[in-house]
Amino acid sequence: MCGVFGAFSPSGSSVLEDVYLGLYALQHRGQESAGISWINGEENIHSLKGMGLVHIALDQKKLASIHAGCAIGHVRYSTTGESLLANAQPLAAKYARGPIAIAHNGNLTNSDGIRRYLENRGAIFQSTTDTEVIIHLMAHQSHKPPLDALVDSLRRLRGAYSLSVLLGNRLIGARDPWGFRPLVLGKREDVTYIASETCALDIVGAEFIRDVEPGEIVVIDSTGIKSVRIPVRTTRHFACSFEYVYFARPDSVIDGRSVYKVRKALGEKLAAGAPAPSADFVTGMPDSGTLAALGYSEASGKPFEIAVVRNRYVGRTFIQPTDLVRNLGVRIKLNPIRELLKEREVVVVDDSIVRGTTARRIVNMMRENGASAVHLRIASPPVRFPCYYGIDTPTCEELAAAQLDLPSLEKMVGADSLRYMSAEDLVAAIGKPRCELCTACFTGDYLQGGDEDGTDL
Ligand code: AMP
Ligand code: SF4
Repeated sequence: MCGVFGAFSPSGSSVLEDVYLGLYALQHRGQESAGISWINGEENIHSLKGMGLVHIALDQKKLASIHAGCAIGHVRYSTTGESLLANAQPLAAKYARGPIAIAHNGNLTNSDGIRRYLENRGAIFQSTTDTEVIIHLMAHQSHKPPLDALVDSLRRLRGAYSLSVLLGNRLIGARDPWGFRPLVLGKREDVTYIASETCALDIVGAEFIRDVEPGEIVVIDSTGIKSVRIPVRTTRHFACSFEYVYFARPDSVIDGRSVYKVRKALGEKLAAGAPAPSADFVTGMPDSGTLAALGYSEASGKPFEIAVVRNRYVGRTFIQPTDLVRNLGVRIKLNPIRELLKEREVVVVDDSIVRGTTARRIVNMMRENGASAVHLRIASPPVRFPCYYGIDTPTCEELAAAQLDLPSLEKMVGADSLRYMSAEDLVAAIGKPRCELCTACFTGDYLQGGDEDGTDL
């Protein structure tokens, strides 16, 4: 998962600090690296990139001192390509028709085929990210005006991409025809913004204008905002349901649905479908299960308690790549309140189980601290399939629910009872028709149509 941001000021007022702040608000979408690119005059592209969190990777003071009226930014969390500075985005290049920089959220499912095709024709790739194929596809069409070349390149891609692009002195936003990843447009005075989530508009005081539609390219320049379609026919949309379950910030609104409200609704549905009548109170895994636990508590009439306190200075565990870091992360991060747990029966709500490490630890922790029974409730269906669209779920071998049936998983995490919610309830809580949502990691219902290897070239 990654986050993208972009800002364009027709009056040329400087936007680099806005982009920095936007990335700061999108930090939850990627913690591996951060970068900003801008264009100086018509021709020269500049980038500032670094590894780690936004405030470590980028120098806010330096950015504030640079004047640029059009810029894009990216926070990265690797799905393809290693964790290297060379893979940090935006990716910038100067091709025959001028400067271009791209920030990409999502994962292309046919990039390997396109890459091979281009390499056989002499392209030399600088990074191992799938995003670079977009630039090379454009470079191979230098006879076309840049925007036409971009549209034609995007037409050949399959999978997930929400893009923020600098093309000459234009800012461009694009969302794949299936709408996997969110992308929104906002405005503050005369400055137009593109962002992965609305929380990044809020931080710069911008008003939300609208979502970029699946298959839409928005072109922002001194004449205003224009909309162009990506010429790919689709039969349905695939908006990622996991954004609502876990990934997006709860203060964001995606495709007209408040993430906060969806998470509470998930908890309500879970309480109805997977009650725990003997439990004394409901608690959430901090912070990922808190809102669903609130919904569960309201719907079940059982009190909500904060039974585990999270050290707020420790980052999200999952996003850091190694097992060692992940395991240490959970231990460093959480501390239960013994007085609350002693001889009580607890419902613990979490958003999901991936490898099962977090669930096992938390159940264990509750028992060690006196809980008489622990009922684990998961506010999404079992994750049984990998994601190919930009969320770093592990392979089937590592996915606990792909390997174990419910009783075995219950035993593995050590809960007195473990229940999930159904895919139907997930879809109902999100409130979109099923044919507009991706649920592939839960149901195996992937985007179809020879999209995995065809290059369409
Ligand atoms: P695990 O310990 O591997 O089962 O991870 C489960 C925890 O990671 C849950 O509490 C979630 O909040 C979080 N999580 C679930 N899915 C993902 C994902 N695809 N990427 C990052 N974190 C996730
Ligand atoms: Fe989202 Fe899961 Fe679909 Fe990936 S497979 S896009 S995580 S719903």
